Amino acid sequence: MTMYPWQQAAWTQLQQMRERLPHAILFHGPAGTGKADFLETFAQSLLCENVRPDGHACGECASCGWFVQHNHPDYRRVRPEALEDEPAPDGEEGGEGKARSTKAPSKDIKIEQIRALADFMNISTHRQGLRVVVLYPAEALNMPASNALLKTLEEPPPGTVFLLASNSLDRLLPTILSRCRKFALPMPAHGEALAWLKEQGVADADSWLREQGGAPLAALAEAEGGSREEMEALLHFLARPSTDGALRTAEKLAKAELPALVAWTQRWLYDVFSYKLSGNIRYFPRYQKELAALAGRVHTASLMRAIKGTSERRAVADHPLSAKLFVEDMLLEYTSCCT
Ligand SMILES: [Zn+2]
Repeated sequence: MTMYPWQQAAWTQLQQMRERLPHAILFHGPAGTGKADFLETFAQSLLCENVRPDGHACGECASCGWFVQHNHPDYRRVRPEALEDEPAPDGEEGGEGKARSTKAPSKDIKIEQIRALADFMNISTHRQGLRVVVLYPAEALNMPASNALLKTLEEPPPGTVFLLASNSLDRLLPTILSRCRKFALPMPAHGEALAWLKEQGVADADSWLREQGGAPLAALAEAEGGSREEMEALLHFLARPSTDGALRTAEKLAKAELPALVAWTQRWLYDVFSYKLSGNIRYFPRYQKELAALAGRVHTASLMRAIKGTSERRAVADHPLSAKLFVEDMLLEYTSCCT
């Protein structure tokens, strides 16, 4: 699970609530700062059977295994259909099947989704532990859904914890607010957010961050969205590397932001490596087939070589002698490692 550097203080503070856990906690703060990831990290730790002293999940017990695979029997995540339609930050591919219909996915959390929780809460837990429901963004609850949730919060089922997140408390029913313990997740300090964005390979990070009012995840999404075409061209090549392809793609990408190209390649290699080790994909789940094929074919030693080469390139990506040669070189090296 992902936790961001600016959330450390909040995490420490949250641990004090573990002793007497409220049945509903409402995490609030600006959009684009990673609240959903924070909630899911906390949810995993509440379900973990061997929590570490710092409050983090062990990542090794049966419960953690299910959680990471998105099939923990005592866990539910409620989000609008529209959010399920795109890859979650943790790389999960959600909303298969029903979200593929031609109708635009709903941006509301609907009453059916809240009703579905009733069945979940009526059966006893599988692990004799807690039952955890994560719901965000709470302002997406439409009126019938709000009222249905309110009923549940008024008569909380034993052993169940609701973790809600909201970008704007003033859009929630006061009756919902009054039944949750509020917990603030403030905007990170500019310097901290900036350092993180730079680590993600975002060029001109400062202006992206400022344009998004200091919200680092929003800035990252925007920065990447701005060059989506370039990312697609690169991924397309990485999925099917060849010498010809490397030269053609380098031609296409000569004007791209080099640190971003390096960062995408690093994430891609991370996915190949992670798939090889554990079958998990974090960044590019829509390329599962290609990642699986690569993971099956590339030797670990070659993969390590590619990963090392790419991180060395990161250091010079800001000032290459020739952008086109830089890209060519990187893609040719990748090709030699991965074919
Ligand atoms: Zn665990």
